[in-house]
This record gives sequence, structure tokens and C-alpha cells, in this order.
Amino acid sequence: MVPNSVIHPGSGEEPPGLYLHIPFCKSRCAYCSFNSYACQSPPAAYLAALSKQIRHWAGQQWCRERTFATLFVGGGTPTIYGGGELASLVELSLTSFNFTEDAEITVEANPNTVSEQALTSLRRAGVNRLSLGVQAFSDRLLAGLGRSHTMAEADAAIGAARRAGFTNINLDLMYGLPGQSVADWQDSLDQALAHAPEHLACYELTIEEGTPFARLVDKGDLILPDEEEALTMAERTHAFLAQAGLERYEISNYAAPGRECRHNLNYWRNGAYLGLGAGAVSCLSGFRFSTVQEPEEFAGLVQRGELPLAEGECLPLEARFRESVIMGLRMIQGVSFARLHRQFGLTPPGYYGKMLDELQQQGLVAVSKDSLRLTKAGLPVANQVLARLV
Ligand code: SF4
Repeated sequence: MVPNSVIHPGSGEEPPGLYLHIPFCKSRCAYCSFNSYACQSPPAAYLAALSKQIRHWAGQQWCRERTFATLFVGGGTPTIYGGGELASLVELSLTSFNFTEDAEITVEANPNTVSEQALTSLRRAGVNRLSLGVQAFSDRLLAGLGRSHTMAEADAAIGAARRAGFTNINLDLMYGLPGQSVADWQDSLDQALAHAPEHLACYELTIEEGTPFARLVDKGDLILPDEEEALTMAERTHAFLAQAGLERYEISNYAAPGRECRHNLNYWRNGAYLGLGAGAVSCLSGFRFSTVQEPEEFAGLVQRGELPLAEGECLPLEARFRESVIMGLRMIQGVSFARLHRQFGLTPPGYYGKMLDELQQQGLVAVSKDSLRLTKAGLPVANQVLARLV
């Protein structure tokens, strides 16, 4: 399935990441466009198929020749499965693939799907980072989003995670929500910081096509904060979290020193990764492929010994270079010319020429001897700037 030309480790390639997708949630949130399906008891057949994929891929030459630096079990809601089942999946991954000794092992969870006992099982299996989808510390706002948990459950889940021994916790929060004021957002940040998380991911709500929220917006039935309010929320976030010692290292991500999410840093550096599970995407040394989205189809194909492949492509060198620049500019420190030159033999000034000069004159990017980054003025309009570099 992997072309021979990409079998051997490329020059300058960093250790890859492994991603496992669990596409089930207790219910669907009104804004969700992820590959997830509502169910109360997730099928055992899916975990069996995922386990079979883990064993299959661990035996492939591309994987055997590499040592993985991160494992990320994401969703959906991975913790919709019991602690024991999920712990077994993590243990299988850790024993099947080569991992670095200090590998970052993350599991995503929603607050109403975790108990101290389940979290203790995950910790014992080697999970050393927990990412909790809290979104807001307000029952009114959570209900408006169609989240299935309450603020009290979020507080309880964080407490349980600490007691289970987690010392690296991320909280996902959202701003720009229907009915949310700047004061509400400040309150969510205050309450999040009261738990002293090592990492915060603060995303602005985006309305994705095909979601219940998109239909409400079309009918004029969803009132969102205006642009100025959303901008104030974003600006407050940077200033407030910086004071609290959480440094902004990516457009939406903040971390205590040394607690940046290494799995995501690998994506933003356009590193190699293997994604297993329904709808998961892999990029192995420039060969990108995705698996079928629907969990039943995925499990059926895997159990019959067939490839659950949806599509695949070998990315041309220049396309990979441009992608590396665009993804790398999401990081506050930007992209390193030395790294890009090592990987592609190209650098942004040489490749983009006048286009980059223009962006620099407009004050949207800063070019130094060895790096390119978005400026303070460029970060809020990142999408427009990045679109010009595609
Ligand atoms: S918990 Fe996450 S993945 Fe599940 S429905 Fe809500 S937004 Fe989607």
C-alpha cells in the first residue's frame, strides 16, 4: 500500500506520530463537523477492527524502521469506551510499535465519560496527557452548544484526572458562542485557570456547513457575538493567559513551558504520521491516504482482510513545501528556513519572491535571516494571509 519510493526514512525526517480515531459520542453537538456518530454503547467490533489495524501496521516496514514520538487517541469521544477497553488499546499500541522512552501519550475525553477508576487505568497503561473537551464553564452556554455534559461534570473530571495522577492536562475551550458575552468568556478563562491546566486550546466557534448551527444561521435564528466582540475575546485571551504563564505557541494553543502538545507540533511541522480508524488520515513521507469514514464499513473491511482505504496521493515536492509553510505559520515562532531547506531544498524568500515582500510591506509577516512568521497584525487575519501562500 505504501509506494517503495517512500519506504525509507527521508533525510531530516522527525519521529512520526500515531493517531487512533474513535468516531463515537454520546450525542452530537450542534456545531460538530467531525467524523463522529451518536451512540450510547459503542460497538466492540470497531475496537476489534482497530486492534487488527494496529497489529497489521506495526508489522509494515515503514513502521518497523521508525520510532514513534507520540500517540494520540482522539475522536469523537474515546472515553465512551470503558477505561479497561481503552487501556488495552493503548497497551497494544505501545507494545506493537516502537516508541521513544519519553513518548507523549494523549487520550481525548469528554467530562461526562470519565471516572477516577477509568482514568487510573489509562494512567497505568501509559497515558501521560489528558485532553478534556470542556468548551465552556457555563451550563447555559453548554446547553446552547448541545454538549452532553455540565460545568459541574467538567470540574469533577479535572479533579478525578488529578487524583488519577495526570500532571499534563489540556482543556479545550470555545469562544464566539451564541449568547456569550466578553464577561462570560473571561469567566470561562478564570474558571479554567483555577484548575491550573498545563495546556489550554481556545478555539473560536466556526459555523460548518451541514451542521444544525449552519441551518439556524441560514434561518437567522442563531445570534453570534459580532466581529468586534469576538476580536476582544481573542485579544483578552492572549494577554490574560500570558500573565498566567501559559504561552501562546500556536494560533489557538497555549502551554506552560515544555507542555506544548508534541503530537500537534508534528502536524504543524508537516511531519509524518500514521492515522488508524474510520476517517483517519496518514502521511508517510509524502504519501497521504485516508480510510473510509463510516465505522461499520471500516470494521467490515478490516475484518474481511481488505484495505479500508478511501483515497491516497503522492504529494509533489513543491506542494509539500507550500503545505509546510502554511501549516508552520500557525506556530507563533513560524517556520525555520534551515528545516525547510533540509527537507525540500527550498526556502520561502526564494520560492515566493515578490509575494512575500508584499506581505512584509503590509506588516502581516516578519522575515528574519532564518525564519518566517506571522506578525501581531497578521495573526488575526491568518487565514487570508495563508490563502495567498497556498
Ligand atoms: S463531543 Fe466533539 S466530536 Fe463529539 S459531537 Fe461534540 S464536537 Fe463532535
